[in-house]
Amino acid sequence: MPDGRHTEGPTEKCGVVGVSLDGRDAARPLYYALYALQHRGQESAGIVTHDGFQQHSHVEMGLVGDAFEEGDLDSLNGSTGIGHVRYPTAGSVDSSCAQPFSVSFKSGSLGLSHNGNLVNADEVRTELAESGHAFTSDGDTEVIAHDLARNLLEADLVRAVKRTMSRIHGSYALTITHDDTVLGLRDPQGNRPLCIGKLDDGYIITSESAAIDVLDGDLVRDVRPGELVVLGPDGDGFDSYQLVEQENTAHCFFEHVYFARPDSRIDGNLVYDVRRELGRKLWEESGVETDVVLPVPDSGRAFASGYAEAAQEDDADVEFAEGLMKNRYVGRTFIMPTQDARERAVRLKLNPIRDVVEGKTVTVIDDSIVRGTTSTQLVELLNDVGAEAVHMRIGAPAIVAPCYMGIDMASREELIAAGKDTDDIREEIDAASLSYLSIDAIAEALDESRADLCLGCVTGEYPYDIDGESTDRDVVRPTIDGAQAGVASDDD
Ligand code: AMP
Repeated sequence: MPDGRHTEGPTEKCGVVGVSLDGRDAARPLYYALYALQHRGQESAGIVTHDGFQQHSHVEMGLVGDAFEEGDLDSLNGSTGIGHVRYPTAGSVDSSCAQPFSVSFKSGSLGLSHNGNLVNADEVRTELAESGHAFTSDGDTEVIAHDLARNLLEADLVRAVKRTMSRIHGSYALTITHDDTVLGLRDPQGNRPLCIGKLDDGYIITSESAAIDVLDGDLVRDVRPGELVVLGPDGDGFDSYQLVEQENTAHCFFEHVYFARPDSRIDGNLVYDVRRELGRKLWEESGVETDVVLPVPDSGRAFASGYAEAAQEDDADVEFAEGLMKNRYVGRTFIMPTQDARERAVRLKLNPIRDVVEGKTVTVIDDSIVRGTTSTQLVELLNDVGAEAVHMRIGAPAIVAPCYMGIDMASREELIAAGKDTDDIREEIDAASLSYLSIDAIAEALDESRADLCLGCVTGEYPYDIDGESTDRDVVRPTIDGAQAGVASDDD
Protein backbone atom coordinates (compact mmCIF):
# COMPACT_ATOMS: atom_id res chain seq x y z
CA MET A 1 0.00 0.00 0.00
CA PRO A 2 1.43 3.37 -0.86
CA ASP A 3 1.96 5.76 1.95
CA GLY A 4 0.89 9.29 1.80
CA ARG A 5 -1.01 11.38 -0.60
CA HIS A 6 -1.65 9.62 -3.83
CA THR A 7 -3.76 11.97 -5.81
CA GLU A 8 -3.06 12.61 -9.43
CA GLY A 9 -2.35 16.31 -9.72
CA PRO A 10 -3.36 18.79 -7.05
CA THR A 11 -6.38 18.00 -4.90
CA GLU A 12 -9.39 20.16 -5.52
CA LYS A 13 -11.19 20.75 -2.24
CA CYS A 14 -13.24 23.65 -3.33
CA GLY A 15 -16.49 25.55 -3.63
CA VAL A 16 -18.41 25.84 -6.89
CA VAL A 17 -21.36 27.88 -8.10
CA GLY A 18 -23.25 28.55 -11.34
CA VAL A 19 -26.19 30.85 -12.10
CA SER A 20 -28.53 31.62 -14.96
CA LEU A 21 -30.53 34.84 -14.58
CA ASP A 22 -33.21 36.67 -16.46
CA GLY A 23 -31.40 39.66 -17.98
CA ARG A 24 -29.37 40.73 -14.93
CA ASP A 25 -25.58 40.29 -15.02
CA ALA A 26 -24.43 37.15 -13.23
CA ALA A 27 -21.11 38.51 -11.95
CA ARG A 28 -22.30 40.11 -8.69
CA PRO A 29 -24.53 37.25 -7.51
CA LEU A 30 -21.64 34.88 -8.29
CA TYR A 31 -19.27 37.10 -6.32
CA TYR A 32 -21.56 37.12 -3.28
CA ALA A 33 -22.03 33.37 -3.53
CA LEU A 34 -18.26 32.91 -3.57
CA TYR A 35 -18.05 34.92 -0.35
CA ALA A 36 -20.49 32.44 1.19
CA LEU A 37 -18.27 29.59 0.01
CA GLN A 38 -15.00 31.16 1.12
CA HIS A 39 -14.50 28.54 3.87
CA ARG A 40 -14.21 25.91 1.11
CA GLY A 41 -11.18 27.54 -0.44
CA GLN A 42 -8.91 30.48 0.17
CA GLU A 43 -6.16 29.97 -2.36
CA SER A 44 -7.80 31.42 -5.45
CA ALA A 45 -11.14 32.73 -6.64
CA GLY A 46 -12.61 33.17 -10.09
CA ILE A 47 -15.67 33.83 -12.21
CA VAL A 48 -16.45 32.98 -15.83
CA THR A 49 -19.50 34.52 -17.53
CA HIS A 50 -20.98 34.37 -21.01
CA ASP A 51 -22.92 37.20 -22.65
CA GLY A 52 -24.39 35.20 -25.53
CA PHE A 53 -21.50 36.07 -27.83
CA GLN A 54 -18.35 35.55 -25.87
CA GLN A 55 -16.94 34.23 -22.64
CA HIS A 56 -15.40 36.49 -19.98
CA SER A 57 -13.10 35.30 -17.25
CA HIS A 58 -11.41 36.70 -14.17
CA VAL A 59 -9.39 34.37 -11.94
CA GLU A 60 -6.92 35.51 -9.28
CA MET A 61 -4.94 34.03 -6.44
CA GLY A 62 -6.16 34.99 -2.98
CA LEU A 63 -9.39 35.52 -1.09
CA VAL A 64 -12.61 36.52 -2.85
CA GLY A 65 -12.42 40.05 -1.43
CA ASP A 66 -8.88 40.50 -2.79
CA ALA A 67 -9.33 38.74 -6.12
CA PHE A 68 -11.95 41.11 -7.56
CA GLU A 69 -12.10 44.85 -7.93
CA GLU A 70 -15.26 46.70 -8.91
CA GLY A 71 -14.01 47.05 -12.50
CA ASP A 72 -13.36 43.31 -12.79
CA LEU A 73 -16.98 42.59 -11.97
CA ASP A 74 -18.15 45.27 -14.43
CA SER A 75 -16.26 43.62 -17.26
CA LEU A 76 -17.75 40.17 -16.56
CA ASN A 77 -20.76 40.62 -18.82
CA GLY A 78 -23.60 38.19 -19.28
CA SER A 79 -26.47 36.74 -17.31
CA THR A 80 -24.99 33.23 -17.07
CA GLY A 81 -21.79 32.16 -15.39
CA ILE A 82 -19.93 30.04 -12.88
CA GLY A 83 -17.55 30.71 -10.00
CA HIS A 84 -14.98 28.85 -7.95
CA VAL A 85 -12.95 29.12 -4.76
CA ARG A 86 -9.98 26.82 -4.42
CA TYR A 87 -8.69 25.21 -1.27
CA PRO A 88 -5.09 25.75 -0.26
CA THR A 89 -3.16 22.54 -0.57
CA ALA A 90 0.00 21.77 1.33
CA GLY A 91 1.99 21.71 -1.89
CA SER A 92 3.06 24.56 -4.09
CA VAL A 93 0.67 27.38 -4.83
CA ASP A 94 0.16 27.24 -8.55
CA SER A 95 -1.98 29.70 -10.47
CA SER A 96 -2.27 27.29 -13.42
CA CYS A 97 -4.73 25.31 -11.31
CA ALA A 98 -6.86 28.28 -10.26
CA GLN A 99 -10.42 28.01 -11.56
CA PRO A 100 -12.87 28.23 -13.28
CA PHE A 101 -10.86 26.58 -16.00
CA SER A 102 -11.92 28.20 -19.27
CA VAL A 103 -11.12 27.44 -22.85
CA SER A 104 -12.53 27.85 -26.36
CA PHE A 105 -12.73 24.87 -28.64
CA LYS A 106 -14.20 24.28 -32.08
CA SER A 107 -17.23 23.00 -30.22
CA GLY A 108 -17.71 26.31 -28.36
CA SER A 109 -16.40 27.84 -25.17
CA LEU A 110 -16.27 25.91 -21.93
CA GLY A 111 -15.82 26.96 -18.33
CA LEU A 112 -15.44 24.41 -15.52
CA SER A 113 -15.49 24.69 -11.73
CA HIS A 114 -14.63 21.44 -10.00
CA ASN A 115 -14.87 20.24 -6.43
CA GLY A 116 -13.49 16.78 -5.84
CA ASN A 117 -10.72 14.70 -7.25
CA LEU A 118 -10.51 12.24 -10.13
CA VAL A 119 -8.54 9.09 -9.43
CA ASN A 120 -7.92 8.19 -13.08
CA ALA A 121 -7.00 11.63 -14.42
CA ASP A 122 -3.52 10.51 -15.49
CA GLU A 123 -4.90 7.74 -17.68
CA VAL A 124 -7.42 10.00 -19.37
CA ARG A 125 -4.84 12.78 -19.78
CA THR A 126 -2.34 10.41 -21.40
CA GLU A 127 -4.92 9.15 -23.81
CA LEU A 128 -6.05 12.67 -24.73
CA ALA A 129 -2.46 13.89 -25.08
CA GLU A 130 -1.73 11.00 -27.45
CA SER A 131 -4.60 12.12 -29.62
CA GLY A 132 -3.23 15.66 -29.82
CA HIS A 133 -4.70 17.56 -26.86
CA ALA A 134 -2.23 20.03 -25.30
CA PHE A 135 -2.54 20.63 -21.55
CA THR A 136 -1.64 23.79 -19.68
CA SER A 137 -1.92 22.42 -16.12
CA ASP A 138 -1.50 19.13 -14.31
CA GLY A 139 -4.97 19.44 -12.76
CA ASP A 140 -7.76 16.95 -13.33
CA THR A 141 -10.29 19.67 -14.23
CA GLU A 142 -8.53 20.39 -17.49
CA VAL A 143 -8.75 16.69 -18.29
CA ILE A 144 -12.54 16.86 -17.93
CA ALA A 145 -12.64 20.01 -20.10
CA HIS A 146 -10.66 18.41 -22.95
CA ASP A 147 -12.63 15.21 -22.85
CA LEU A 148 -15.92 17.09 -22.89
CA ALA A 149 -14.76 19.36 -25.73
CA ARG A 150 -13.84 16.34 -27.80
CA ASN A 151 -17.17 14.66 -27.14
CA LEU A 152 -19.03 17.85 -28.04
CA LEU A 153 -17.62 17.61 -31.57
CA GLU A 154 -19.53 14.36 -32.07
CA ALA A 155 -22.54 14.51 -29.78
CA ASP A 156 -25.08 16.88 -28.29
CA LEU A 157 -24.47 18.35 -24.88
CA VAL A 158 -26.19 15.70 -22.78
CA ARG A 159 -24.63 12.77 -24.65
CA ALA A 160 -21.23 14.43 -24.57
CA VAL A 161 -21.44 14.80 -20.78
CA LYS A 162 -22.55 11.19 -20.48
CA ARG A 163 -19.56 10.00 -22.49
CA THR A 164 -17.22 12.03 -20.33
CA MET A 165 -18.82 10.56 -17.20
CA SER A 166 -18.11 7.09 -18.50
CA ARG A 167 -14.40 7.86 -18.79
CA ILE A 168 -13.67 9.76 -15.60
CA HIS A 169 -13.59 8.03 -12.24
CA GLY A 170 -13.55 9.68 -8.85
CA SER A 171 -15.21 12.48 -7.05
CA TYR A 172 -16.65 15.48 -8.85
CA ALA A 173 -19.24 18.15 -8.21
CA LEU A 174 -19.03 20.45 -11.21
CA THR A 175 -20.57 23.64 -12.48
CA ILE A 176 -19.94 24.09 -16.18
CA THR A 177 -20.65 26.73 -18.81
CA HIS A 178 -20.97 25.67 -22.41
CA ASP A 179 -21.34 29.02 -24.14
CA ASP A 180 -24.29 30.58 -22.28
CA THR A 181 -25.68 27.30 -20.93
CA VAL A 182 -24.96 26.51 -17.28
CA LEU A 183 -24.74 22.90 -16.11
CA GLY A 184 -24.35 21.17 -12.77
CA LEU A 185 -23.01 17.62 -12.55
CA ARG A 186 -22.46 15.32 -9.59
CA ASP A 187 -20.49 12.10 -9.76
CA PRO A 188 -22.46 8.84 -9.72
CA GLN A 189 -21.78 8.31 -6.02
CA GLY A 190 -22.44 11.92 -5.03
CA ASN A 191 -19.27 12.27 -3.01
CA ARG A 192 -19.15 16.07 -2.81
CA PRO A 193 -22.25 18.19 -2.18
CA LEU A 194 -24.11 20.09 -4.89
CA CYS A 195 -27.56 21.65 -4.72
CA ILE A 196 -30.03 23.68 -6.77
CA GLY A 197 -31.62 26.93 -5.63
CA LYS A 198 -34.32 29.24 -6.94
CA LEU A 199 -33.57 32.96 -7.02
CA ASP A 200 -36.02 35.78 -7.68
CA ASP A 201 -34.94 36.00 -11.29
CA GLY A 202 -33.22 32.71 -12.01
CA TYR A 203 -31.58 29.53 -10.75
CA ILE A 204 -28.35 28.67 -8.97
CA ILE A 205 -26.35 25.45 -8.60
CA THR A 206 -23.80 25.45 -5.81
CA SER A 207 -21.79 23.38 -3.34
CA GLU A 208 -23.66 24.59 -0.27
CA SER A 209 -27.09 26.00 0.39
CA ALA A 210 -25.59 28.85 2.46
CA ALA A 211 -24.66 30.42 -0.90
CA ILE A 212 -28.33 30.30 -1.92
CA ASP A 213 -29.32 31.94 1.38
CA VAL A 214 -27.03 34.94 0.86
CA LEU A 215 -28.76 35.61 -2.45
CA ASP A 216 -32.15 35.44 -0.70
CA GLY A 217 -33.03 32.34 -2.70
CA ASP A 218 -34.67 29.06 -1.74
CA LEU A 219 -33.08 25.64 -1.75
CA VAL A 220 -34.94 23.50 -4.31
CA ARG A 221 -33.10 20.21 -3.73
CA ASP A 222 -29.74 18.45 -3.88
CA VAL A 223 -28.38 17.46 -7.27
CA ARG A 224 -28.71 13.67 -7.33
CA PRO A 225 -25.67 11.46 -7.67
CA GLY A 226 -25.12 10.84 -11.41
CA GLU A 227 -27.48 13.65 -12.36
CA LEU A 228 -26.85 16.40 -14.91
CA VAL A 229 -28.82 19.62 -14.34
CA VAL A 230 -29.09 22.09 -17.22
CA LEU A 231 -30.26 25.59 -16.37
CA GLY A 232 -32.56 27.34 -18.85
CA PRO A 233 -30.91 30.30 -20.62
CA ASP A 234 -33.06 33.04 -19.06
CA GLY A 235 -33.21 31.64 -15.58
CA ASP A 236 -36.62 30.21 -16.35
CA GLY A 237 -36.10 26.71 -14.99
CA PHE A 238 -33.91 23.64 -15.25
CA ASP A 239 -33.85 20.25 -16.94
CA SER A 240 -32.67 17.12 -15.23
CA TYR A 241 -30.97 14.09 -16.82
CA GLN A 242 -30.20 11.08 -14.66
CA LEU A 243 -27.19 9.96 -16.69
CA VAL A 244 -25.80 7.26 -14.43
CA GLU A 245 -27.47 5.32 -11.66
CA GLN A 246 -25.61 3.40 -9.00
CA GLU A 247 -26.97 1.37 -6.17
CA ASN A 248 -25.06 3.13 -3.43
CA THR A 249 -23.94 6.66 -2.82
CA ALA A 250 -20.60 7.62 -1.28
CA HIS A 251 -21.42 10.84 0.51
CA CYS A 252 -18.45 12.31 2.34
CA PHE A 253 -19.29 12.31 6.06
CA PHE A 254 -16.43 14.70 6.73
CA GLU A 255 -18.35 17.50 5.00
CA HIS A 256 -20.78 17.30 7.93
CA VAL A 257 -18.12 16.83 10.57
CA TYR A 258 -15.76 19.58 9.56
CA PHE A 259 -15.82 21.05 6.12
CA ALA A 260 -19.24 22.50 5.35
CA ARG A 261 -20.82 25.52 7.00
CA PRO A 262 -23.16 24.59 9.86
CA ASP A 263 -25.90 26.68 8.24
CA SER A 264 -25.84 24.60 5.05
CA ARG A 265 -28.23 21.78 4.28
CA ILE A 266 -26.52 18.87 2.55
CA ASP A 267 -28.25 15.76 1.23
CA GLY A 268 -31.28 16.45 3.38
CA ASN A 269 -29.47 17.27 6.63
CA LEU A 270 -28.78 20.62 8.24
CA VAL A 271 -25.08 20.45 9.10
CA TYR A 272 -25.61 22.23 12.43
CA ASP A 273 -28.19 19.64 13.52
CA VAL A 274 -25.89 16.80 12.48
CA ARG A 275 -23.02 18.20 14.53
CA ARG A 276 -25.21 18.66 17.60
CA GLU A 277 -26.57 15.15 17.20
CA LEU A 278 -23.03 13.79 16.91
CA GLY A 279 -22.21 15.64 20.13
CA ARG A 280 -25.19 14.00 21.84
CA LYS A 281 -24.06 10.60 20.63
CA LEU A 282 -20.56 11.31 21.87
CA TRP A 283 -22.00 11.80 25.35
CA GLU A 284 -24.06 8.60 25.04
CA GLU A 285 -21.07 6.57 23.87
CA SER A 286 -18.29 7.93 26.04
CA GLY A 287 -19.54 10.70 28.33
CA VAL A 288 -17.29 11.49 31.26
CA GLU A 289 -18.40 13.64 34.17
CA THR A 290 -16.16 16.68 34.52
CA ASP A 291 -16.64 20.16 35.90
CA VAL A 292 -16.52 21.90 32.53
CA VAL A 293 -17.17 21.06 28.87
CA LEU A 294 -15.00 23.20 26.58
CA PRO A 295 -15.56 23.44 22.82
CA VAL A 296 -12.58 23.96 20.55
CA PRO A 297 -13.73 27.06 18.66
CA ASP A 298 -15.18 27.02 16.09
CA SER A 299 -14.92 23.45 14.86
CA GLY A 300 -16.06 21.79 18.11
CA ARG A 301 -18.76 24.22 19.14
CA ALA A 302 -21.93 22.52 17.85
CA PHE A 303 -20.63 19.11 18.99
CA ALA A 304 -19.93 20.46 22.47
CA SER A 305 -23.34 22.07 22.84
CA GLY A 306 -25.04 18.77 21.88
CA TYR A 307 -22.74 16.87 24.24
CA ALA A 308 -23.38 19.21 27.18
CA GLU A 309 -27.11 19.27 26.53
CA ALA A 310 -27.30 15.46 26.54
CA ALA A 311 -25.14 15.35 29.68
CA GLN A 312 -27.41 17.83 31.47
CA GLU A 313 -30.49 15.84 30.43
CA ASP A 314 -28.84 12.88 32.15
CA ASP A 315 -28.48 15.06 35.26
CA ALA A 316 -24.71 15.17 34.96
CA ASP A 317 -23.31 18.11 36.86
CA VAL A 318 -21.36 19.68 33.98
CA GLU A 319 -20.99 23.28 32.97
CA PHE A 320 -20.66 24.35 29.32
CA ALA A 321 -18.11 27.16 29.04
CA GLU A 322 -16.32 28.96 26.24
CA GLY A 323 -12.97 28.61 27.96
CA LEU A 324 -10.86 28.67 24.82
CA MET A 325 -10.66 31.88 22.85
CA LYS A 326 -9.87 31.90 19.19
CA ASN A 327 -7.87 34.53 17.37
CA ARG A 328 -9.69 34.78 14.06
CA TYR A 329 -6.83 36.45 12.28
CA VAL A 330 -4.54 33.45 12.35
CA GLY A 331 -4.90 31.30 9.23
CA ARG A 332 -5.69 27.61 9.30
CA THR A 333 -3.01 25.87 11.35
CA PHE A 334 -3.29 22.92 9.19
CA ILE A 335 -1.52 24.20 6.15
CA MET A 336 1.58 25.51 7.90
CA PRO A 337 4.51 23.80 6.24
CA THR A 338 6.52 22.74 9.30
CA GLN A 339 5.50 21.11 12.55
CA ASP A 340 7.17 23.89 14.53
CA ALA A 341 5.16 26.55 12.68
CA ARG A 342 1.98 24.53 13.16
CA GLU A 343 2.52 24.35 16.92
CA ARG A 344 3.19 28.08 17.12
CA ALA A 345 0.05 28.72 15.08
CA VAL A 346 -2.13 26.67 17.46
CA ARG A 347 -0.71 28.68 20.38
CA LEU A 348 -1.47 31.95 18.59
CA LYS A 349 -4.89 30.77 17.56
CA LEU A 350 -6.24 29.32 20.81
CA ASN A 351 -5.82 30.82 24.26
CA PRO A 352 -7.39 29.30 27.38
CA ILE A 353 -9.14 31.48 29.95
CA ARG A 354 -7.38 30.58 33.17
CA ASP A 355 -10.31 31.46 35.43
CA VAL A 356 -12.63 29.01 33.63
CA VAL A 357 -10.20 26.13 33.85
CA GLU A 358 -8.02 26.45 36.94
CA GLY A 359 -8.57 23.70 39.51
CA LYS A 360 -11.27 22.03 37.37
CA THR A 361 -11.59 18.80 35.46
CA VAL A 362 -12.38 19.60 31.82
CA THR A 363 -13.67 17.79 28.74
CA VAL A 364 -12.40 19.32 25.52
CA ILE A 365 -14.54 18.66 22.46
CA ASP A 366 -13.34 18.92 18.88
CA ASP A 367 -14.62 17.56 15.60
CA SER A 368 -11.54 15.61 14.56
CA ILE A 369 -7.92 14.82 15.21
CA VAL A 370 -5.72 14.73 12.13
CA ARG A 371 -2.03 15.10 12.94
CA GLY A 372 -2.71 15.58 16.63
CA THR A 373 -1.08 19.00 16.79
CA THR A 374 -4.17 20.80 18.11
CA SER A 375 -5.06 18.25 20.80
CA THR A 376 -1.49 17.83 22.02
CA GLN A 377 -1.06 21.57 22.35
CA LEU A 378 -4.43 22.04 23.98
CA VAL A 379 -3.84 19.42 26.66
CA GLU A 380 -0.51 21.05 27.47
CA LEU A 381 -1.99 24.57 27.52
CA LEU A 382 -4.88 23.57 29.75
CA ASN A 383 -2.56 21.77 32.14
CA ASP A 384 -0.35 24.88 32.21
CA VAL A 385 -3.25 27.05 33.35
CA GLY A 386 -4.10 24.68 36.16
CA ALA A 387 -6.65 22.15 34.83
CA GLU A 388 -6.85 19.13 37.14
CA ALA A 389 -7.52 16.68 34.34
CA VAL A 390 -8.06 17.10 30.59
CA HIS A 391 -10.32 14.62 28.79
CA MET A 392 -10.61 14.73 24.99
CA ARG A 393 -13.80 13.76 23.16
CA ILE A 394 -13.83 13.76 19.37
CA GLY A 395 -16.96 13.97 17.20
CA ALA A 396 -15.60 11.70 14.46
CA PRO A 397 -13.90 8.31 14.28
CA ALA A 398 -10.10 8.19 14.26
CA ILE A 399 -8.67 9.32 10.92
CA VAL A 400 -6.38 6.51 9.88
CA ALA A 401 -5.95 6.94 6.13
CA PRO A 402 -5.58 9.75 3.61
CA CYS A 403 -8.38 11.29 1.59
CA TYR A 404 -8.11 10.87 -2.17
CA MET A 405 -11.47 12.47 -2.77
CA GLY A 406 -10.32 16.04 -2.35
CA ILE A 407 -10.03 16.84 1.35
CA ASP A 408 -6.56 18.02 2.22
CA MET A 409 -5.99 15.70 5.14
CA ALA A 410 -2.43 14.45 5.56
CA SER A 411 -0.34 11.48 4.49
CA ARG A 412 -0.53 8.21 6.40
CA GLU A 413 2.72 8.83 8.23
CA GLU A 414 1.50 12.25 9.38
CA LEU A 415 -1.83 10.99 10.73
CA ILE A 416 -1.52 10.46 14.48
CA ALA A 417 -4.05 7.60 14.45
CA ALA A 418 -2.63 5.60 11.52
CA GLY A 419 -1.64 2.17 12.83
CA LYS A 420 -2.30 3.05 16.47
CA ASP A 421 -5.01 2.26 18.96
CA THR A 422 -6.83 4.90 20.98
CA ASP A 423 -4.75 4.36 24.10
CA ASP A 424 -1.49 4.94 22.20
CA ILE A 425 -2.93 8.19 20.89
CA ARG A 426 -4.18 9.20 24.34
CA GLU A 427 -0.68 8.71 25.65
CA GLU A 428 0.83 10.69 22.82
CA ILE A 429 -1.43 13.69 23.35
CA ASP A 430 -1.10 13.21 27.13
CA ALA A 431 -4.85 13.43 27.86
CA ALA A 432 -6.47 11.90 30.97
CA SER A 433 -8.80 10.05 28.59
CA LEU A 434 -9.61 10.07 24.89
CA SER A 435 -12.64 8.81 22.97
CA TYR A 436 -13.66 9.01 19.35
CA LEU A 437 -17.16 8.64 17.99
CA SER A 438 -18.16 5.36 16.32
CA ILE A 439 -18.81 5.03 12.59
CA ASP A 440 -22.31 3.75 13.39
CA ALA A 441 -23.10 6.97 15.25
CA ILE A 442 -22.12 8.96 12.14
CA ALA A 443 -24.35 6.82 9.92
CA GLU A 444 -27.26 7.16 12.36
CA ALA A 445 -26.92 10.92 12.68
CA LEU A 446 -26.91 11.26 8.89
CA ASP A 447 -29.74 8.75 8.57
CA GLU A 448 -27.74 6.85 5.95
CA SER A 449 -26.45 3.31 5.85
CA ARG A 450 -22.69 2.83 6.09
CA ALA A 451 -22.78 1.53 2.52
CA ASP A 452 -23.91 4.96 1.32
CA LEU A 453 -21.04 6.89 2.90
CA CYS A 454 -17.43 7.44 1.89
CA LEU A 455 -15.56 6.24 4.98
CA GLY A 456 -12.13 5.96 3.36
CA CYS A 457 -10.31 8.18 5.88
CA VAL A 458 -11.63 6.24 8.89
CA THR A 459 -11.53 2.68 7.51
CA GLY A 460 -8.80 2.78 4.83
CA GLU A 461 -11.31 1.30 2.38
CA TYR A 462 -12.56 3.53 -0.37
CA PRO A 463 -15.68 3.71 -2.54
CA TYR A 464 -13.55 4.38 -5.64
CA ASP A 465 -10.92 2.21 -7.28
CA ILE A 466 -7.66 3.85 -6.20
CA ASP A 467 -4.28 2.40 -7.16
CA GLY A 468 -2.75 0.55 -4.24
CA GLU A 469 -5.76 0.94 -1.91
CA SER A 470 -8.66 -1.37 -1.21
CA THR A 471 -12.30 -0.65 -1.92
CA ASP A 472 -15.35 -1.27 0.25
CA ARG A 473 -17.68 -2.02 -2.66
CA ASP A 474 -17.94 -3.32 -6.16
CA VAL A 475 -16.56 -0.42 -8.15
CA VAL A 476 -15.36 -0.66 -11.70
CA ARG A 477 -12.82 1.83 -12.89
CA PRO A 478 -13.44 2.69 -16.54
CA THR A 479 -10.91 1.38 -19.00
CA ILE A 480 -10.30 4.11 -21.51
CA ASP A 481 -10.95 2.20 -24.74
CA GLY A 482 -13.57 -0.13 -23.36
CA ALA A 483 -15.53 2.68 -21.78
CA GLN A 484 -15.69 4.58 -25.04
CA ALA A 485 -16.95 1.55 -26.89
CA GLY A 486 -19.44 0.87 -24.13
CA VAL A 487 -20.82 4.37 -24.32
CA ALA A 488 -21.33 4.27 -28.07
CA SER A 489 -23.96 1.56 -27.62
CA ASP A 490 -25.30 3.11 -24.42
CA ASP A 491 -25.68 6.63 -25.71
CA ASP A 492 -29.36 7.29 -25.24
P1 AMP B 1 -4.65 18.41 13.92
O1 AMP B 1 -4.22 19.55 14.75
O2 AMP B 1 -3.68 18.12 12.81
O3 AMP B 1 -4.98 17.16 14.70
O4 AMP B 1 -5.99 18.83 13.16
C1 AMP B 1 -7.18 18.86 13.85
C2 AMP B 1 -7.79 20.22 13.78
O5 AMP B 1 -7.83 20.67 12.43
C3 AMP B 1 -9.21 20.17 14.27
O6 AMP B 1 -9.44 21.29 15.11
C4 AMP B 1 -10.06 20.24 13.02
O7 AMP B 1 -11.18 21.06 13.23
C5 AMP B 1 -9.16 20.82 11.97
N1 AMP B 1 -9.23 20.09 10.69
C6 AMP B 1 -9.66 18.86 10.45
N2 AMP B 1 -9.57 18.55 9.14
C7 AMP B 1 -9.07 19.61 8.52
C8 AMP B 1 -8.74 19.93 7.16
N3 AMP B 1 -8.94 19.06 6.18
N4 AMP B 1 -8.23 21.15 6.90
C9 AMP B 1 -8.03 22.04 7.89
N5 AMP B 1 -8.32 21.79 9.19
C10 AMP B 1 -8.83 20.61 9.52
